[in-house]
Amino acid sequence: MLTDLVQIERHGEKNRVENGKFRAWLRRRNYPEQRLKAIAQEVEDKIDCTACANCCRVATTKVNDRDVERLSKFIGVRTHEFLRDYTVESPEEGRILRRNENGCVFLEGNLCSVYDARPQTCELFPHLVKGNGSFISRMWDMPDRAVYCPIVYNSLQLFKAATGFQK
Ligand code: SF4
Ligand code: SF4
Repeated sequence: MLTDLVQIERHGEKNRVENGKFRAWLRRRNYPEQRLKAIAQEVEDKIDCTACANCCRVATTKVNDRDVERLSKFIGVRTHEFLRDYTVESPEEGRILRRNENGCVFLEGNLCSVYDARPQTCELFPHLVKGNGSFISRMWDMPDRAVYCPIVYNSLQLFKAATGFQK
């Protein structure tokens, strides 16, 4: 299992085109998604996210109205104050959490300081085992995520082997 983030970035970039092809290949087949989810779960069980936190460092985090309500309550501020102080509007993604030089504004070391009220997308990340929409539709983002997330990188490698994908 590869967990070194420098290696993940290097191999994830190297495999980006292949992972894109795998995503398209999988879309045309009827491979049971429960088997793929079980593989991803096994990978998740072996990786300690508190030793990584790379998604909180490199990825932006979208927030919806429910997230804003929960986070405002958790921090003890009014909703408009939370929106003003902890979020920004991105032209491409809509409302996202503010970021600083370390990544997400709520990241402290490798830990989330609002863990119990974290946004839904953080709860579901990296959206392999759990997530909104179909498994195949969630695969759309995986070649990008394989460049920075050890769970996604290793899962894709195992998916390709398990399904008999030919390069
Ligand atoms: S979800 Fe992926 S990138 Fe985020 S902490 Fe876990 S292994 Fe690291
Ligand atoms: S809210 Fe927490 S889990 Fe989500 S990106 Fe920020 S630090 Fe990470």
